[in-house]
Amino acid sequence: MARAYNFAPGPAALPESVLKQAQADMLEWGDAGASIVEMSHRGPEFMEVAARAEADLRTLLAIPDDYAVLFLPGGATTAQALLPLNFADAGATVDYVVTGHWGKTALKQLTPSVQLNVAASGEADGWRTIPARDSWRLTPGAAYVHITANETIHGVEFRPAWGEPAPDTGNVPLFADFSSSIASEPIDISRYGVIYAGAQKNLGPVGISVVIIRRDLLERAGQPRANIFDYRAQLANDSMLNTPPTWNWYLAGLVFRWMLDAGGTAAFDRLSDQKAALLYGAIDGSGGFYRNDVDVAVRSRMNVPFFLADEARNDAFLAGAREAGLIGLKGHRVLGGMRASIYNAMPVDGVRALVDYMQDFQKRNG
Ligand code: PMP
Repeated sequence: MARAYNFAPGPAALPESVLKQAQADMLEWGDAGASIVEMSHRGPEFMEVAARAEADLRTLLAIPDDYAVLFLPGGATTAQALLPLNFADAGATVDYVVTGHWGKTALKQLTPSVQLNVAASGEADGWRTIPARDSWRLTPGAAYVHITANETIHGVEFRPAWGEPAPDTGNVPLFADFSSSIASEPIDISRYGVIYAGAQKNLGPVGISVVIIRRDLLERAGQPRANIFDYRAQLANDSMLNTPPTWNWYLAGLVFRWMLDAGGTAAFDRLSDQKAALLYGAIDGSGGFYRNDVDVAVRSRMNVPFFLADEARNDAFLAGAREAGLIGLKGHRVLGGMRASIYNAMPVDGVRALVDYMQDFQKRNG
């Protein structure tokens, strides 16, 4: 059976070479007599996999030494719940800039003992823009400012055309949910206090997440919390306070290596520009048959939501796409329509195939 071009938002397409490598490693790891998923996480085989994954991620993202890297089970939502516990004292104010569904989700994870300040929100604007930096009502002395670097459902991303991608928050550390855009371009990690990402878009399989933390922030007391939710304890134990998701960690490591071999984040930056230009070009050039509503300055290069002018044709569009070998295009239930997620593992040819299909569908139905 041929593999389709998979535009799913996450779990998302993985590079074929990574899947083949995993397939080859599945029965036996070297001559260990067992697969990597069957061996102790404290054994030399897995310890090497884990160390290599961290070293490769550090190279890939140019993570400075004064930042810790954790590989933790669970997704980005779990990280959202752990941020206030680890970094905000009881009664402290936390500032959130909300630019779509996932920023709203982050608010729901807050512990009641912190004070929430929504410093800016794109909701009144239908999540189509990111409020200008000078309109943010930040709290002096807040524990942190939280942003969502890329909104996976609404297709809104902090882009240079909007302003500084890592907005200046003065002495207050900037915390960013990079789940759906990490490693899509070089970023200056030193601008952030914490960066976190669920792996299942650009980094690998679902079930593991990466948390990058400026080490001095770990000195903060935070709230009383269970040991397993304590980032300091996790760091002291190399992210192995309990049995880690070894298979996911190993697979993520293969994806890191694949990205490095492909030229690193600078290469994916160029490819993302190319893919986004193709797809938005097709949408904008369709004479209204297709449309994307997001302000051009903050259009996501990773997730492209789009709508057919005649929504009655949605099912036919999706069925035809499947026949053309294009899957995962149905929009998220909160927004409807279509969405093409074009992460690092999506080749330019996949986007070309989608654009060809869209134009062909329009010819037949326009
Ligand atoms: N943040 C963003 C930007 C996301 O895209 C998602 C999931 N799509 C989440 C948070 C929630 O992640 P998880 O399902 O891994 O908890």
